[in-house]
Amino acid sequence: MKLIIASNNKGKIREYKQILEPMGFEVLSQSEAGIDLEAEETGTTFAENSAIKARAIYGMTKCAVLADDSGLSVDALGGEPGVYSARYEGIESSEGRSLRILEKLKDVPEEQRGASFICCIHMILSDGREITVEGRCTGRIGYEQLGTNGFGYDPIFMYGDRSFAEIPSEEKNRVSHRAAALEKLIENLKELDIYDNTKAEG
Ligand code: IMP
Repeated sequence: MKLIIASNNKGKIREYKQILEPMGFEVLSQSEAGIDLEAEETGTTFAENSAIKARAIYGMTKCAVLADDSGLSVDALGGEPGVYSARYEGIESSEGRSLRILEKLKDVPEEQRGASFICCIHMILSDGREITVEGRCTGRIGYEQLGTNGFGYDPIFMYGDRSFAEIPSEEKNRVSHRAAALEKLIENLKELDIYDNTKAEG
């Protein structure tokens, strides 16, 4: 079964290919599927935005599609930057957005610096069935940017005593919000017996 990922982000596509191709899916990025579309993310939750992206592509293709939406939720900021993680306060660079969060939390004590990365995955099968799952990874906001791996808010997100930008990518990929969401998605697909269906369809 062909599966279109509603993204052209190379890292994301690689991760989804590694996990979903052994399950029998032929994974295509949006551009590989010949789709030039950027659905407007008008939702106020990760679940809404991932569903908007998936439904836009399913509507055009009637082909199985997977979309995700993710971001950082900081407890002391009432869940900000949340769905606005990629464009928080209109700041252009990811370093600038991280620095803004550090600044906002400068007087916040350690025990109130909790934060979570959240990832929602919305999948639509070729027959129209929809699956939504959410994965979380909980940590704390640090006091300065640490490490050079990763991207986005990784340098300020402390997972134990290291930032997400200090731990090796293989380790991050095992414990991340995306990994948690993917694990739930796979459980759902196994329950639906999708693995056998896709093999039968070649
Ligand atoms: P998207 O869902 O890939 O569009 O991600 C939205 C934004 O959330 C990104 O631009 C990052 O700022 C942030 N984000 C999502 N996942 C991560 C992560 O694993 N590390 C750091 N930042 C992330």
